[in-house]
Amino acid sequence: MTHEAIPGIAANLETVRAKIGKAQNAAVAPAKNIALIAVSKTHDAASVEEALVAGQRDFGENRVQEAKGKFPLLREKFPDLRLHLIGPLQSNKAREAVSLFDTIHSLDRESLAEALHDELERTPKYIEIFIQVNIGEEAQKSGVAPRDTENFVRFARSLALPVTGLMCIPPADENPAPYFALLKKIGADTGLENLSMGMSSDYETAIRFGATHVRVGTAIFGERPALISAQ
Ligand SMILES: *Cc1c(COP(=O)(O)O)cnc(C)c1O
Repeated sequence: MTHEAIPGIAANLETVRAKIGKAQNAAVAPAKNIALIAVSKTHDAASVEEALVAGQRDFGENRVQEAKGKFPLLREKFPDLRLHLIGPLQSNKAREAVSLFDTIHSLDRESLAEALHDELERTPKYIEIFIQVNIGEEAQKSGVAPRDTENFVRFARSLALPVTGLMCIPPADENPAPYFALLKKIGADTGLENLSMGMSSDYETAIRFGATHVRVGTAIFGERPALISAQ
């Protein structure tokens, strides 16, 4: 990775924020507040700092280990940054995840709900949790099936987990709109108002369908090495 990309980050952020504002204005029923999560996986701490200096505060990482290497030092300099876990979480990393992250977008099974519950009992902390829905019912993606989501939300609430929203990653190379619409409907049915949906290629569409959190990597930080893509 070269540092030539760094001078572009502030400008990219400005472009993305402007597009978010435009999409919000054009939408019939957009969310009132839309959080831009800058997905910094694979990008170094210097790139994240560039974004912080440009005023960005929400960041997304998909691996506990990688976030642990980058963010504690950045947090010392920018105590108001917020870190979002957007990738799959192993139950045995629940403790580390709770201590590192402010929001977890990838709760997808009962064993993980129990591990998070145990950890939050042991170390109470203000945190937000989103349930990941496998919105296209794809074998290779994690997430609760759409038809199981209502029951799963009930289960998470029975553990008093601070669940505030739903997250999805629509199937690649398909029109994402129907999937965003479905997530919004499940959110309405379950009383969860936060919707984490939309990436570099489709965040404007997601905003049309009520996204409250968009997760944008490439459009801010540039291309990642080909091996590491969304899961
Ligand atoms: C990598 C990733 C993103 C960002 O993807 P871009 O296409 O680079 O914007 C968003 N969400 C999840 C879950 C990811 O893993």
